[in-house]
Amino acid sequence: MAQSAARVQNRKLRIVAPARLVDELDEDVVVVMFSQVDFRTGRLVELRPVAEQAHAVGALVLCDLSHSAGVMPLALGDDGIDLAVGCGYKFLNGGRGAPAFMYVANRLLHSIENPIWGWLGHAETFAFEAEYRPDSSIARFLVGCPPILSLVALEEGIDLLLEADLHAVRRKSIALTSSFIDLLRQEWDDDAPEILSPLDGRRRGSQVALRHPSASRIVRALSENGVIAEFRAPDIIRFGFAPLYVCYADIWDSSQILKRVTHQVDADRRAARLRRKFE
Ligand SMILES: *Cc1c(COP(=O)(O)O)cnc(C)c1O
Repeated sequence: MAQSAARVQNRKLRIVAPARLVDELDEDVVVVMFSQVDFRTGRLVELRPVAEQAHAVGALVLCDLSHSAGVMPLALGDDGIDLAVGCGYKFLNGGRGAPAFMYVANRLLHSIENPIWGWLGHAETFAFEAEYRPDSSIARFLVGCPPILSLVALEEGIDLLLEADLHAVRRKSIALTSSFIDLLRQEWDDDAPEILSPLDGRRRGSQVALRHPSASRIVRALSENGVIAEFRAPDIIRFGFAPLYVCYADIWDSSQILKRVTHQVDADRRAARLRRKFE
């Protein structure tokens, strides 16, 4: 999408390593776009310094909250974030295909246009005027009718989160990911997969990413044993921890299953290598 937007606007898209985001800023940058939580490593970006440095060179900041909304308190206004987007089906529990969301800072509402002009974004939806006039509120970013059944499901997920205190949710999220990491470091004999996520809980989203050469086979074996993790090519295993309903016993059980299937996959790999040698 960024590539396409850059093409339409006749701009250049520059892709940089997340850790170099701030270093690469210069006066040519119009908008800085990044994920608050890196989907591969789970590394959490501190928003305010990025916003300050981006604003210093006259750029806007667009933050993707797909992996942070619903697992930690957010203060986009205080942090100076201009724009944000996110998806509704991860920690907001809207289910696959749930509507996404966007955020535009109030101070920018009148200077940012929706490039897709639809009747629901019109100032007078039911006037059916010949000319488009954008609504003055965030509603100007609507286009057409949203999928109502999906919205109902998303609303349930969000209502549940609103009942919880997001500070407590964040504390539990850190406790869950930390317990999982502690078990990996204590319960294995030096043969645990490499931990890619930051070890400091404050710098981590609600996920733990591991690296293993047989990642894809391990993820499949986990799933056959009731543990749903994700494979990210070429060698990443990603565990997401939803604090509202994942409990500490799940951490113990899943780490035991991970250990068992990893040892099995490693043994199979060694056996296959030996067999090839003798063939
Ligand atoms: C999951 C995810 C999305 C998906 O958004 P849709 O609602 O499916 O468009 C977008 N961005 C990031 C970083 C994601 O992790």
